[in-house]
Amino acid sequence: MNRQQLPYFRCTHCDEFIPIKDARIAQLYFATSEIPCPFCKRPLDLWDVLLKEIREVWPLNVFALVGAQGVITTIRLLPDEPFKLSLTDLAIPRDAKILDINYTSQDGSLIALESQTNNPHRFIHDIRHEIVLHPVPFRYGEPKTETTVLVSITWVPHTANDEAWENLINACRAYYSHQFWSAVMPANVAVEARLARLLTSFLEQFVGRERVNRFLEDAATYSYQLNVLLPVFAELRRIPQLPDKIRGHLNSLRSLRNAIAHKGTIQPPCQEDIANSLCAALFAFHYLNLIEEQILTALG
Ligand SMILES: [Zn+2]
Repeated sequence: MNRQQLPYFRCTHCDEFIPIKDARIAQLYFATSEIPCPFCKRPLDLWDVLLKEIREVWPLNVFALVGAQGVITTIRLLPDEPFKLSLTDLAIPRDAKILDINYTSQDGSLIALESQTNNPHRFIHDIRHEIVLHPVPFRYGEPKTETTVLVSITWVPHTANDEAWENLINACRAYYSHQFWSAVMPANVAVEARLARLLTSFLEQFVGRERVNRFLEDAATYSYQLNVLLPVFAELRRIPQLPDKIRGHLNSLRSLRNAIAHKGTIQPPCQEDIANSLCAALFAFHYLNLIEEQILTALG
């Protein structure tokens, strides 16, 4: 039997699990600083609760703000019989991006081992939709017995032509795999690209595209866009400011990115630094989307 699963966060007051039905929940943070817990009604700080989930590195929750969904199913592994796992049979769309699969044996003496090529990739970005699982005993020499395996799959629906979002997914993947340096570039690129798009469309109302591009590339580079132009833009459009806390973590992320680009890498960043930066990039992505939606609504 298959069961759909949503990402969740836990209330900091009553510890109840609160499902995240829509990744755009992050936008609420910019409309109101606190939302009530649906169970105990006490106020929750979305930044605090979502950062906590990212720090604890549960796959579905790390990927919550890029729209992850989960499916849980059970399979029966028989001794010496490969099992063909088809994700399409679990109602996961063929073009979905598979982010993580966990196999946990519930009983018996076997574990599920994914079939690999003769040169397996250790840092896998594309998990297949058709997987052959080999039953392998926990301990060689002991009797092989039929085993129930709980399979948890984390995936995101396909989204066309959204490079910023793709970069965010790659940043989450790298973080989840504890490849912390590898999370820095895509997390920074995601915000930088989305912010440049927003400012370009705004400035183009007043000056030509070529001049705008040169201005943003040569004069008002990302740091000025984030720390000067965006606050001015928000004030002019009468929209909520990006909180200083998030801007601060984005500036730390930019420094890490510059350390890679200009100096090479020396010391790996700690998990907590990357969790803060990644969470800030995710919130900023939704903030910039919110602003774009508000502008489109105003124009429409
Ligand atoms: Zn509560």
